[in-house]
Amino acid sequence: MENKTAEAEPDFLGNTSLFFEEAAKLSGVSQDYINIMSKVHCTIKFNIPLRRDNGVLEIIEAYRSQHSHHQLPCKGGIRYSTGVDTQEVEALAALMTYKLAVSDVPFGGAKGGVKIDPRKYSVHELERITRRYTVELYKKGFIGPAIDVPAPDMGTTGREMAWIADTYQNLCGKDDLNALGCVTGKPVSMHGVDGRTEATGLGIFYGTRFIVENKDFCAKYLMEPGVKGKVCIVQGFGNVGSFTATFFYENGAKIVAVVEYNSAIFDSKGINIKDALKYWREMKSFKDFPCEKVYQEKDANDALFLPCDILLPCAMENVINKTNADRLKCKILVEGANGPTTYAAQQIIDKMGIAVLPDIAMNSGCVTVSYFEWLKNISHVRLGRLQKGYDEQSKKQMFAMMGSPSIGEMNLSGPTEKDIVYTALDECMKDTVKAVWKMAQEKKINMRLAAFVIAIQKIGRTYTDKGGLYM
Ligand code: NAD
Repeated sequence: MENKTAEAEPDFLGNTSLFFEEAAKLSGVSQDYINIMSKVHCTIKFNIPLRRDNGVLEIIEAYRSQHSHHQLPCKGGIRYSTGVDTQEVEALAALMTYKLAVSDVPFGGAKGGVKIDPRKYSVHELERITRRYTVELYKKGFIGPAIDVPAPDMGTTGREMAWIADTYQNLCGKDDLNALGCVTGKPVSMHGVDGRTEATGLGIFYGTRFIVENKDFCAKYLMEPGVKGKVCIVQGFGNVGSFTATFFYENGAKIVAVVEYNSAIFDSKGINIKDALKYWREMKSFKDFPCEKVYQEKDANDALFLPCDILLPCAMENVINKTNADRLKCKILVEGANGPTTYAAQQIIDKMGIAVLPDIAMNSGCVTVSYFEWLKNISHVRLGRLQKGYDEQSKKQMFAMMGSPSIGEMNLSGPTEKDIVYTALDECMKDTVKAVWKMAQEKKINMRLAAFVIAIQKIGRTYTDKGGLYM
C-alpha cells in the first residue's frame, strides 16, 4: 500500500518494518526471535453502531492491535482519527513494543484506534463510542490490567480514559480488584497519576536537555551546550506539542515557529507560547495571531523548513518524507510524534548531517509515567503517600543535628506525587537517551538504529530467558 503524502514510499507499517529490518541485522539476535518480532501478534477490527444525536445510525470502524506478548500486559494508546486503519494501528503497536523495551517498561506493545474525526462528534456521542469500544474490547479479552492497558493518543484525552475505566469497572469490578489499572492517562480524580497529562512533552524536554548538555554531542553537531537560547520549531499544538513547546519555552529556548494543520506562526524574536496556546485553543487557528508572519493553510507546512537548532515534529506520522527532507534546516530533529520521518527521509537526513533523536526513545515519557500509574493502581496507594511524612521528619532531624542555621528557610516537606513522577521521569529519560547515544557511538550508526538495536536485543534476551516459546 502506498502512502498518500509521499508517493512511491511505503506506508507507515512498511517504514517501521524497514527500520526494524536494518537494525535487526546489527543486533546479533537469533533469526528465530527476529522472525517473531517482525510479525504482529494479533489485530482485531470491529464495527461500532452509533445512534447520532440527530437520530441517524452510523457504523464506525474500530481496531486494537497487540504487537508483542513477550511481556504482559500489552500497552498502547487509543487514537481517534480518520486515518486509522489496520496498517496504522499495527505500525503504532510495533513502535510501542520497541519504545517500551528501550525505556525499560516491562510491557508488550499495542495500539487501538477508532476511525472518526472527533471534532465532528458531540461529547455525548464520543462517550457512547468510547463506552461501546470498551465493551467490545472486554468481550474479546482485549482489555484488562493483566492483559492490555490502553492510554490516550491523538484525538483522545484523560476524559476518554475515565469513560473506559468506568465502563470496565462496571463490567467486572466485583471480580477484579485491580480494575482501574485497565487503562492509564486517567484524570487524577479517577486514580490517574499526577504528571501523566504532560508526561510525553516533559519527557521530550528532559531527553533533549540531557543530550544537548553532552559536550561530545554538541561538538559533533556544532552547537553550544544547553537548551537556553536554542531556536526551536514545533509542529502540532495538541497534547504532545503544546507541553513540549511549553517546557522548552519555560526553560529559555526560543520558539520561533508553531505549525498546525490549518495555519502556522513565525516570529524571529520568539513566540510567547502561553499566548499562542490560549489563542489556538480559543480560535482553533492562528489566522490573526499577532506575530511577524502568519502562514495560512496552504503554506503552513513551509514553516517546518525555516532555519532552527531543534525541530520538534509533534503532530503525526510521515510528515518528513522523501519529497521534503532535503528542505530541512535544523541541526537536530527531535521526534515527539510517532513515525514522523519515513525511512527514505532518514537516509537523506543522515547525508545532511542532521541528528535525529527518534520517537521510540524521545516520546517514551508517556509509557514511563503510564507504568507509574499502573503501579499506583495495582498497589492501591498514591505514589509517595506512605513515605512523605517520614521523609519530612528525617530531613528535619538531620538538619537539626547538623545545627543548620538556615533550617527555617528550607523546604523540608516530603515529595508530592508530582515530585516523584517528575524526578523519576527525568532519570528514566536520561538513562534511555544515554544508552541510545552510547550505542550509536559504539556501532557508528544513527540514533534511530541504535534505539531499535537496543530494543531488539532486550526483547531477544527476554525470549532467551523465557526458554520455551511453546505452551
Ligand atoms: P493531539 O490530537 O492531542 O494533537 C495533535 C495535533 O496535531 C493537533 O493539534 C492537530 O491539529 C495537529 N495536526 C494534525 N495534523 C497536522 C499536520 N498535518 N500539520 C500540523 N499539525 C497537525 O495528539 P497528541 O496526543 O498530541 O499526539 C501527537 C503525536 O504524538 C501522534 O503521533 C501520537 O501518536 C504521538 N504520541 C502521543 C502521546 C500522548 O501521550 N498523547 C504519546 C506518545 C506519542
